[in-house]
Amino acid sequence: MQVLKFGGSSVATAPNLQRVAQLVEAAAQQAPTVVVVSALGGTTDALIEAGRLAAAGSEAYRTQLKQLEERHLEAVRGLLPIPDQSALLSLVKTYCNELDSLCDGIFALGELSDRTLDRLMSFGELLSSRLLAACLKAHGVAHVWHDSRQLVRTDSRYGFAAVDFTVTNQQIQALVATQPSAVYVVPGFIGADAQGATTTLGRGGSDYTAAIFAGALAAKQLEIWTDVSGMMTADPRLVTLARPIPRISYQEAMELSHFGAKVLYPPTIQPVMSQGIPLWIKNTFAPEDAGTLVEVGPPANQDVVRGLSSIAQLALLSLEGSGMVGIPGFSRRLFGALAQQRINVILITQSSSEHSICVAVRAADAELAQATVNEEFNTEIAAGRVEPLRCETDLAIVALVGEQMRNHPGISGRMFGALGQNGVNIRAIAQGSSERNISVVIRAADVRKAINVLHEEFFEETTKQVNLFVAGVGNVGRKLLEQLARQQQWLREKLRLNLRVVGLANSQRFVLAEEGGLDLNNWQAALEQGQPLDLAAVVQQLHARNLRNTVFVDVTASADVAKIYAALLEKSMAVVACNKVACSSEYANYARLKSLTREFNTEFLFETNVGAGLPVIGSLNDLIRSGDQVHRIEAVLSGTLNFVFNHYDGTVPFADVVRQAQAEGYTEPDPRLDLSGTDVARKILILAREAGQAMELADIHNESFLPASCLEGDVDAFYQQLAVHEAHFRSLYDAAAAQGKRLKFVARYTDGQASVGLQGVAPGHDFYVLQGKDNAVLFFTNRYPEQPLVVKGAGAGADVTASGVFADIIRAARA
Ligand code: ADP
Ligand code: ASP
Ligand code: MG
Repeated sequence: MQVLKFGGSSVATAPNLQRVAQLVEAAAQQAPTVVVVSALGGTTDALIEAGRLAAAGSEAYRTQLKQLEERHLEAVRGLLPIPDQSALLSLVKTYCNELDSLCDGIFALGELSDRTLDRLMSFGELLSSRLLAACLKAHGVAHVWHDSRQLVRTDSRYGFAAVDFTVTNQQIQALVATQPSAVYVVPGFIGADAQGATTTLGRGGSDYTAAIFAGALAAKQLEIWTDVSGMMTADPRLVTLARPIPRISYQEAMELSHFGAKVLYPPTIQPVMSQGIPLWIKNTFAPEDAGTLVEVGPPANQDVVRGLSSIAQLALLSLEGSGMVGIPGFSRRLFGALAQQRINVILITQSSSEHSICVAVRAADAELAQATVNEEFNTEIAAGRVEPLRCETDLAIVALVGEQMRNHPGISGRMFGALGQNGVNIRAIAQGSSERNISVVIRAADVRKAINVLHEEFFEETTKQVNLFVAGVGNVGRKLLEQLARQQQWLREKLRLNLRVVGLANSQRFVLAEEGGLDLNNWQAALEQGQPLDLAAVVQQLHARNLRNTVFVDVTASADVAKIYAALLEKSMAVVACNKVACSSEYANYARLKSLTREFNTEFLFETNVGAGLPVIGSLNDLIRSGDQVHRIEAVLSGTLNFVFNHYDGTVPFADVVRQAQAEGYTEPDPRLDLSGTDVARKILILAREAGQAMELADIHNESFLPASCLEGDVDAFYQQLAVHEAHFRSLYDAAAAQGKRLKFVARYTDGQASVGLQGVAPGHDFYVLQGKDNAVLFFTNRYPEQPLVVKGAGAGADVTASGVFADIIRAARA
């Protein structure tokens, strides 16, 4: 004997029922078969709704019932040739008439008892099983249809009845003995109490019916046919990359279903587990897929965690008080009181100080639980020995399940690390002593993110989704988007990073993709249709999207953008900036941003603040982290000034050389920042800070080579003044040239003091040969006392800066 159960979507329409009939026909050739059927998908909900409407005095229940009737009649018409339809049509009509009278009664009374509701719901499975039976008949498959209410005996807890296995097993065995057949068709979900009143086994209970039959008949296997190809590593509605679990133990399957994996109704496992009956989960719509085998001891595979699941709409109740310490019986009273009210406790944690007990219950039970527990402990509460029960709502549980977790230390560490890095705050933790399940309570709003983060951590070790928001689409921003588009596939294949740009901003507008990422070949159009730029809204909407692994990329030079970093870091979103404003602002702000990264477990990276794509800050950080000390830094840090002084020899006016530098994209958007030396001062400041020095910009001595009048007006006036002072620039050049020197704008840092200024550099010096827009940085440290560590190369340009930003993004993504 074998038992096959077909779920709501498997029997939702006539073509689906046909498909089921074929599967049954094929199965029955292997062994005698019991077929358990759910109601046509959505029917149970519709029946409940009709009952509620009727009870609330709304005539709309009639429309609801009419639609249900029509749906079933249509199924009949789709299933059978016209001449064969009449018997089934009239059977459907009879059931529907009964349903109408039942609902008329509910309407008249204005009341819907649990008992009546069970009666009402039973029509879904009665109808569907009759339809399947007729369809089998049309296929020439001989069978016996039987009403499960005469077979499954339960108590009278309507809506959630408990099975009396002694009577039930006898009745099922008697049916098979007295009416031998190759195929039996029975409705799932329903039973009857000793008085013969209809009961139901709980929502999703057809799975359980099937297991009850399998147990009663010591079936060789139970097959649950549904709309997915097995029990999956996570709820496929939450995780796109969830995949079927080939084999799983009864206990693991039970944990997963208890913790929310809807594919299997939790009580289903018990009757089959007690007899070691193998349970298959198969896909009606892809019968060739392997599905999942639930069995005694599946072989270990490389996945230490077998699956993830989650339960939403929970409340956390905490009972605390000094009066609880060491007094036995406290928990008993707590759980006793909850049990009395039939409140199901989903998770329990008790701190080792015994000072508090935390339990998670369904949100719907929270109010009753609170009243009940406060009542139970009212004497202690009045005496101040126990605090009134604290209740937090809008929570959810996320659980990792796997037998192998027991033998692998560090799983919870990885779990907490992955969640922490994504700003998912853990409110409570429980680990069963079997170590088969680690559960955490988190905000309900974080569930999708948490499940995806954990799925990535434990099942996709290989691919990590990284979500970028890029602010600034000027020279560097555009290049960056180009490079991202080009590298996306390589990153996916080689680094297993799935980078996508979810949002963009320019100085006027911003856009945040509703779902997925933006098309990198057509981002301009998306941005044009974006919302007017509002940085607070960017932060708020990014936070609301609550995506995992978010990196905010600032390729602007805007002080306003730099102001939102703190708010982003506080939400555990990483920040990658080529914008220097934040790192060169007041020391307190710089230090605060750094400390936020530690506090919220995220990254703030700004390698391109100094030397564009050159590994200047990275090398400095490596020296410091490995215990070295920096005494002196000498550097040429302005690609612009280098370009200008390398090109200026008096033949072309100084102003024109500066213009050329700007045209080629080597200057800051405002070239005065470069020419005044301010930009170089900001860079040496950042290096000094990264070397451990708490300095301010004002502490840096800046000896400008520009006559004061050059900095008095706007950019146009600036260029005019450069022209006016051509003779001054010429004399600077001539003086250096006369000594065989070249002009370089040099930044120095020596033990806490820093300065920037123009300097003649003699042949033989590291800076003498610097070409074009090159930068060079010399680090003199304990390890490099005389021969410095030199970092040298192209220090400006949109392409190299974009690739430096890109490298920081990858660093942030892999952190
Ligand atoms: P049926 O009507 O066949 O009983 P259900 O809707 O009750 O089907 O259960 C199947 C659904 O369970 C799937 O479509 C899927 O969306 C959901 N589900 C949730 N968690 C899991 C999981 N871990 N594995 C498979 N399916 C899951
Ligand atoms: N039809 C019932 C429900 O929707 C039982 C089931 O489908 O398993 O809950
Ligand atoms: Mg189900």
